[in-house]
Amino acid sequence: MKQDCIFCKIANGEIPAKTLYEDERFRVILDLGPATKGHALILPKNHAANLYELPDEDAMAVLPLAKKMGLLMKSRLQCDGLNLVQNNGETAGQTVLHFHLHLIPRYEGDGQRIGWNPTAPSQEELETVRKEIVG
Ligand code: AMP
Ligand code: ZN
Repeated sequence: MKQDCIFCKIANGEIPAKTLYEDERFRVILDLGPATKGHALILPKNHAANLYELPDEDAMAVLPLAKKMGLLMKSRLQCDGLNLVQNNGETAGQTVLHFHLHLIPRYEGDGQRIGWNPTAPSQEELETVRKEIVG
């Protein structure tokens, strides 16, 4: 646990939260400022600031848990869709510096929007970027 990390405290039960699920590795809670009904956060119990720091063991376990919770939301809340959102860095919208995966149930007409403005690079520009990343 990291001192003064609110999600460490929540994940480890030191601060109460609306818990949907808990095991030795994770706690899943309802978000206090939900985008939609059922908006939840998967929190690892061990502190990692972001995806870059997340141990592979947690990384490997988080998607099966997201699937399990997503299926539960689908059946119990009858949501029409589900967004997984995970922000790394303040520029990307991360406000709490302890890794968390958002599970956002979506409902027809919910008025929420999760997206970006697509751009239209040429094939050459895409190739330049490809080389920049892996070349
Ligand atoms: P992010 O912008 O990805 O860092 O998301 C942080 C999320 O944590 C936001 O959706 C907040 O509403 C949520 N949040 C912040 N503090 C708490 C808390 N004490 N309990 C539950 N959710 C929280
Ligand atoms: Zn933490």
